[in-house]
Amino acid sequence: MSLHLGLDLGGTNLKWAVIERGAAARVVKTGRVPTDTQDGEKSVLRQMIGVATGVAGEFKGITSIGVGMPGVLDPVAGITRFLPNVPGRWAGVPVTTEVARAARLPTLLINDARAFALAEHGLGAGRGATSMLGVTLGTGVGGGLVLDGRLYLGYEGTAGEFGHQTILPDGPLCNCGNHGCLEAVAKAEAIASACGRPSAEEAVAAASGGGDPRACDRRQPGRGRVRRARGLGRCDRGGAAWIGHTNLGAACILSR
Ligand SMILES: [Zn+2]
Repeated sequence: MSLHLGLDLGGTNLKWAVIERGAAARVVKTGRVPTDTQDGEKSVLRQMIGVATGVAGEFKGITSIGVGMPGVLDPVAGITRFLPNVPGRWAGVPVTTEVARAARLPTLLINDARAFALAEHGLGAGRGATSMLGVTLGTGVGGGLVLDGRLYLGYEGTAGEFGHQTILPDGPLCNCGNHGCLEAVAKAEAIASACGRPSAEEAVAAASGGGDPRACDRRQPGRGRVRRARGLGRCDRGGAAWIGHTNLGAACILSR
């Protein structure tokens, strides 16, 4: 048995989990704090180090740390390149070195959607699958690809960015700088906007107020993205349809 700490940085929350790995995996404890973006990448990194050292101090047996972050990063060098949805100057931030030095534990960095795909393949819906495509829907649209039983990272870990495929060449501006990416038309806030809602959270709250049981069920941690997608999917078919087209296209490529 061994204990491992996972950090998941999002534009809204910094989440963490302590996992026990043995014959099976078990979640020991989880937590979250609102992401501190007041001072850009400096405050975010400071907060990540604070959480890592705090949790590592609480659970003495932790042997490694995995950090998931949204955007383009170099998992081998452990540095960030470009995080479009988290405020700050993220080019060249040595996340792995800083967290490892503070917590005195070996640390690895990975794109958060790739981490999601890896976890689903090893422990979740993708168990036993030879190949698998994972898509995350939230602040942005992320992805991860498992080929022949292994997470495929590609050059500097950038393989699997399905959210930045061009769907509409003349579509809305994406945070990455291109126009008409899947993310630009299918991220939660884009769907909310298409529904005439000011935000995804407001749309879920409105659905909850209307008695939608899926939106009402707020007791299940970790299902926020699912709730958002379902709460919004009923009032806008455009974003959901684009995700379906993307998945279908990817499935065609992977099966040939
Ligand atoms: Zn994009």
